[in-house]
Amino acid sequence: MRMKLKLKTVFVMYFMVSLIGLVYALMQLGGRCDCADHDRPKDQTISHLHGELNRLQEQLKKAMAPKAPKKSNLPTIYVVTPTYARLVQKAELTRLAQTFLHVPQLHWVLVEDSAHPTSLVRDFLAASGLTYTHLHILTPKDKKLQEGDPSWLKPRGAEQRNEGLRWLREMGVAAGEKSPAVENAVVYFADDDNTYSLQLFEEMRYTQRVSVWPVGLVGGMRFERPVVEGGKVVRFHTGWRPSRPFPIDMAGFAVSLRLVLANPDARFDGEAQMGYLESSFLQNLVTMEELEPKADMCTKVLVWHTRTEKPKMKREEALQKQGLGSDPAVEV
Ligand code: UDP
Ligand code: MN
Repeated sequence: MRMKLKLKTVFVMYFMVSLIGLVYALMQLGGRCDCADHDRPKDQTISHLHGELNRLQEQLKKAMAPKAPKKSNLPTIYVVTPTYARLVQKAELTRLAQTFLHVPQLHWVLVEDSAHPTSLVRDFLAASGLTYTHLHILTPKDKKLQEGDPSWLKPRGAEQRNEGLRWLREMGVAAGEKSPAVENAVVYFADDDNTYSLQLFEEMRYTQRVSVWPVGLVGGMRFERPVVEGGKVVRFHTGWRPSRPFPIDMAGFAVSLRLVLANPDARFDGEAQMGYLESSFLQNLVTMEELEPKADMCTKVLVWHTRTEKPKMKREEALQKQGLGSDPAVEV
């Protein structure tokens, strides 16, 4: 009897302990935990984590994807630049391109003064990251400045700017007046050796006909500029022949593409006498009263007519005579 009781007690005790153990285990499994999401049932937590993972993957994908060019409603600025082969050419083009890279919606029309496109310029443009058109036209020998001629004797870059105009008209007619490439677009003639502030391009971007502004370090002056009274250009501040129709440097104006297309014969006269090249183009397009003064009513200098010194090659030539010149296969 005693033995029976004992056995029964042991069984009951065993049963109770097992039951408590089981209930405890079940509570641990399906119940609560003391992690951060301790209120969520497990599968809800897992699906939440899945969602989080997907979101992070999407974000990562976006960050890694190559940036698609942004669509822009800004008017295009076509920058026409004459350029010619010389020791400093690649340096000039590099300086220019790296300025232009900061200007939204800019299309560079680079016109080589050469019989054929050169590989230096072709490769340079391809690697530049800019939107561009590569043109070339050789200045006829009789129109070209010869070694030793004073720099003012003949206009430089006239044929190339005209070639740029020819391309713009061809493109403009093909694209149509209402196309984004043409509507509200602006044309600017930027020599390859000048210095351009980024602000200049925003000043010219909304040109209606012809906009104008000061140019620094030009014409033997600190600056030249149109003089503005009552919001209109009334004369020009220049040290030489203010009576010229437009005594403005090439760097001091921009023209709407619409105006260029509406005047198919307007061009630069390569035969124009010194100082009249800009006038030869502008006088058929606009009057002084119609000019649109920019750069705070022509009170700010945002472009400089800088000129690059010709590098001296005395040591190079001396070494070349000994067959020790710099490797010609290295592009400079
Ligand atoms: N240029 C050219 N062919 C030449 C000389 C000049 O295409 O034989 C280009 C030059 O690269 C520059 C522009 O014409 O973009 C004006 O030339 P430059 O800067 O020598 O003129 P300057 O500053 O003396 O007016
Ligand atoms: Mn120059």
